[in-house]
Amino acid sequence: MSDLNADVVVLGAGPGGYTAAFRAADLGKKVVLIDRNATLGGVCLNVGCIPSKALLHVAKVITEAAETPGIRFAKPELDLPALRAWKDSVVAKLTKGLAALAKQRKVWVVTGIAQFTSPKSIRVETATGPKTLSFENAIIAAGSSVTKIPGFPYDDPRLIDSAGALALADIPGRLLVIGGGIIGLEMATVYHALGSKVTVVELMDQLMPGADADLIKPLAARLKKQYEQILLKTRVTKLESLPQGVRASFDGPDAPAPGIYDRVLVAVGRQPNGRAINAEAAGVAVDQRGFIHVDTQMRTNVPHIFAIGDICSEPMLAHKAAHEGKVAAEVIAGHRVSFQARTIPSVAYTDPEISWMGVTETAAIKLGLEFEKAIFPWAACGRALASGRDEGLTKLIIDKKTRRVIGAGIVGIGAGELIAEAVVAMEMDAEAGDLALAIHPHPTLSETLALAAEIAEGSITDLY
Ligand code: FAD
Repeated sequence: MSDLNADVVVLGAGPGGYTAAFRAADLGKKVVLIDRNATLGGVCLNVGCIPSKALLHVAKVITEAAETPGIRFAKPELDLPALRAWKDSVVAKLTKGLAALAKQRKVWVVTGIAQFTSPKSIRVETATGPKTLSFENAIIAAGSSVTKIPGFPYDDPRLIDSAGALALADIPGRLLVIGGGIIGLEMATVYHALGSKVTVVELMDQLMPGADADLIKPLAARLKKQYEQILLKTRVTKLESLPQGVRASFDGPDAPAPGIYDRVLVAVGRQPNGRAINAEAAGVAVDQRGFIHVDTQMRTNVPHIFAIGDICSEPMLAHKAAHEGKVAAEVIAGHRVSFQARTIPSVAYTDPEISWMGVTETAAIKLGLEFEKAIFPWAACGRALASGRDEGLTKLIIDKKTRRVIGAGIVGIGAGELIAEAVVAMEMDAEAGDLALAIHPHPTLSETLALAAEIAEGSITDLY
């Protein structure tokens, strides 16, 4: 006997899950949305995208003030409790908004840990005891969790993950960040601005492995001046809890002697939660890493069960999860739709920001594509110079035959906002010439996209 029958059960209330639940409800379905956390929004709203951007905003204000030409500000005075409260209030505004939207749509929210018990039922351990729900369709949106390096002393509170870093318990004197990917570097940006001496350790030979090297260069050059150390091709082999701090040992061609740190942030990636929901009871296949594979309609191997977001594939990004959620809900409602994103943009909200979409130059080479690249250096952009930040560049990847934009990469302030234009261009099959002909406002950083396109079209040959 089930306690509740639903047309659609959504497991997980992150950006994938709540988008799917709201869309299914809007399409007339009786929806139950389950999450183990009392607040909706998943990783993204509670301990991911939103709190990190709130802190990055503060970091930006501090850095910009310190670097403003012709003005000297006094050393900033931190009020950590106020900063924490402000960040939490931003999160609360959004999560409360989601709760209201769920209520408005009569989406039934159940708080508790959920596990499948059969292909048509799920059991939720709630604070008031277990509940069994039966469903016609399920959407698995259970997200991902931080990857842990085995053997580290995780019971030492000085070892933190991204959620711990966002909690902002204190500003450590020396912070070691293990992992030079997007999350590690965003957190490093925050703590550096708030006064920590930061060391970043990355196993690969560049920060943000996977991104084009020319986009990373301006970021790496700036961070090199700001941070205590950036250690590439280096592995942390051991962490020891000592009274005076955490002692880290390193291995690699340029590995330094062991060092003592006040806090260590482990940011080495995220693992899909496929193994944590008893998917086998529903007959849903989960791969070795914990991913649940889906087709373009977000269907798992069990046709009435769908999976979306971090749990089904990379890139693990909120906007991808939300779009997939919408598709799953619409397919369940009988619409003939599928997830066919031509591009899922990626953004690192570091300083400078880095963004890319479509094919990267590295991937284009690897795939043997016939392409041209056009780069506009921001040193020739009036707005970048007037902002005191001319280290950026805007790059377009263009199909040699069709002249269509098939990729773009930007490094520089505001790169995360600027990349949206390239996404629209690619979704609309724009050619480089279309971007070049579109009149961009002057003086803006967006002009760099048009100017890169003009370079591709041969109408700018020389940068004055
Ligand atoms: P999640 O948001 O992970 O939500 C899954 C939900 O399922 C969780 O609420 C969890 O409690 C629940 N759940 C799991 N198992 C169970 C269970 N058995 N029972 C009940 N509930 C369960 N992405 C961006 O696009 N932009 C960014 O700027 C960005 N910044 C980030 C910063 C940080 C520090 C981190 C950690 C991530 C960031 N991300 C960012 C990634 C983004 O947060 C994820 O891609 C996104 O949250 C994935 O959404 P989702 O719906 O798949 O799952």
